[in-house]
Amino acid sequence: MYAASEQRYESMKYRRLGRSGLKLPAISLGWWYNFGALDSLANARAIACRAFDRGVTHFDLANNYGPPPGSAELTFGQLFKSDFAPYRDELIVSTKAGYDMWAGPYGEWGSRKNLLASLDQSLMRMGLEYVDIFYSHRFDPETPLEETMGALASAVRQGKALYVGISNYTPEQTTQAVRILRDLGTPCLIHQASYNMFNRWVEQGLLEVLDQEGIGCIVFSPLAQGLLTDRYLKGIPPGARATKTERVWLTAQDVDGSLAKVHQLNEIARQRGQTLAQMALAWVLRKVQVTSALIGASRVEQLEDDLAALAHLQFSAEELQAIEDVLAA
Ligand code: NDP
Repeated sequence: MYAASEQRYESMKYRRLGRSGLKLPAISLGWWYNFGALDSLANARAIACRAFDRGVTHFDLANNYGPPPGSAELTFGQLFKSDFAPYRDELIVSTKAGYDMWAGPYGEWGSRKNLLASLDQSLMRMGLEYVDIFYSHRFDPETPLEETMGALASAVRQGKALYVGISNYTPEQTTQAVRILRDLGTPCLIHQASYNMFNRWVEQGLLEVLDQEGIGCIVFSPLAQGLLTDRYLKGIPPGARATKTERVWLTAQDVDGSLAKVHQLNEIARQRGQTLAQMALAWVLRKVQVTSALIGASRVEQLEDDLAALAHLQFSAEELQAIEDVLAA
């Protein structure tokens, strides 16, 4: 039986989500890759336990994480039963609905039918009575936003979620969703959006909206799925994400296309006395609106490397400019 480290709250930094009552660890752990049925349960357990031992109190899931879809939640359910149940009140567990999950017209998108059925399925798989955060995973252009947001508010009223959030919504869609949720008496807690040095769309209006509305932001793929680390500096290693064939979200072409900049960024990181992964995390966390950087890890050593970013989050103006110069070139 796992016993969490007594020192688990000593080094993590906790940041408040917008103007809410909830704080998240500056680095949170995502279960998109490495926690499915095809992955080693022992490795998944080692990563999750080490994360919690280091104060990572937030685990982020979705109905479709795996592969196969649903299996990351099943892994969580197994680990919750064997290890984490005594710590339920120290954990923030999130899940989402909106992407393809089951066959037929109700297995995806933003209908009330999809969201509430999906949440029930997620709770069953995870063996939880409630999740801390339930997200609409993507905006549905064909469903009235009132219906999607109404389903989120219902989840809270039914006691199946404590808070709600949205993911991948544009600034305009966010403004509307926030207004509807506020009218329903269930404020939007959080926006989950992609953000890293190679993907800066949130800087084009979204962070401003979140600031005005007092909503926190958790940013996913802050390491650009591994590009912004030393993972690919000497070629593509076996087993790396860019070699995966079952879910292809990072390709060898992506690696080749970014490598020249990655080498230059790595040099700036070295001069700061950090690894590139650590600098990439500090870089997203420099924005006050960014409450937490949501990382993935395929092994415990990566997690440790990433968490060490918190020891050096400050940038000089010269360092920020040097990064801008590399990115603009
Ligand atoms: P990252 O950008 O952090 O990429 C994680 C990958 O980077 C790891 O799997 C590993 O690759 C590599 N890596 C991590 N740390 C290191 C290190 N120190 N040194 C070398 N390599 C390292 O995030 P993800 O893309 O995994 O996304 C994180 C989470 O965000 C997901 O789990 C999910 O919870 C969420 N997410 C949400 C989405 C949404 O639509 N809302 C969409 C996508 C993600 P390797 O496996 O090759 O070892």
